[in-house]
Amino acid sequence: MYYNENTTVFLNGKWLKASEAQTDLYAQTLHYGSGVFEGIRSYDTEDGVQIFKAKEHFERLLYSAEKMHIKLDYTVEELTALTYELLEKNNLKDAYIRPLVYLGANMSLQPTDEVNVFFCAWEWGKYLGDSLLNIMTSSYQRPNPKSCHVEAKVVGHYTNSILATTEAKQKGFDEALLLDMNGNVAEGPGANFFYEKDGKLFTCPLGNILPGITRSTVLELAKELNFDVEEKYFTPEDVKGADGAFFTGTAAEVAGIGALDGVQFTMDWEDTMGATLASMYRNRVSSREMQNFDLV
Ligand code: PMP
Repeated sequence: MYYNENTTVFLNGKWLKASEAQTDLYAQTLHYGSGVFEGIRSYDTEDGVQIFKAKEHFERLLYSAEKMHIKLDYTVEELTALTYELLEKNNLKDAYIRPLVYLGANMSLQPTDEVNVFFCAWEWGKYLGDSLLNIMTSSYQRPNPKSCHVEAKVVGHYTNSILATTEAKQKGFDEALLLDMNGNVAEGPGANFFYEKDGKLFTCPLGNILPGITRSTVLELAKELNFDVEEKYFTPEDVKGADGAFFTGTAAEVAGIGALDGVQFTMDWEDTMGATLASMYRNRVSSREMQNFDLV
């Protein structure tokens, strides 16, 4: 699904066949989760293939690396150019791009200077699909920001996401909604969360979540539409029985939610602010308007 015999990947300065790329089984990231990564999409636009918000994604990658004491000797421009080359080599247009920065052999609990940079890409449909999601409040909380850099995209943080999604699926739901350490709604396992009530959109403030690039794009779009939006803390009880809700994420894009803990949202999805934002997001990613980073 992710690669075939023709797939080319980037590993430590070299272009290799995915099937021939190798790694060290003693890699610290494999044992302890101390790597960082990104999830980025490119779109086939009227102006050719465009990576959506490349600057924001690579700035976040550099930030995540810094927080994990990983020396990543690349600039945003270099990482962007490399990604366009990856797309071209694999003849990909609408693609999901996965840069991964992982550490070499080291069994101690300090980072090593051996930093590996891996880039791959594949075609990936909308993560979470197109149907309205039936979600549950997770029994797992998001990591306390005092226990790790929850705002960084760190490999090891995704054990929390895997536990939450697995629990939700085992209970017959499509996805989980995780709370923060205070019992307020934080985010999904791989997406940020918004709900709509009485003509107003709500999402939680930054602090206990991954600061999603789709979240900020949706906030920009909502502003353009003069939608009333408030960033505030709220509980699952505030959300239940509201008018509508949705997840935002690079992989999921804007994904409508039908019910939380079996309680349906009251409006038809098509009539919600979320549906308007979902179609606006689609238009935006496939046009050049939002391309605020030019490779020159
Ligand atoms: N929260 C988590 C935990 C995520 O993994 C993601 C996906 N990167 C998001 C939110 C959404 O972030 P973005 O919109 O930047 O993809």
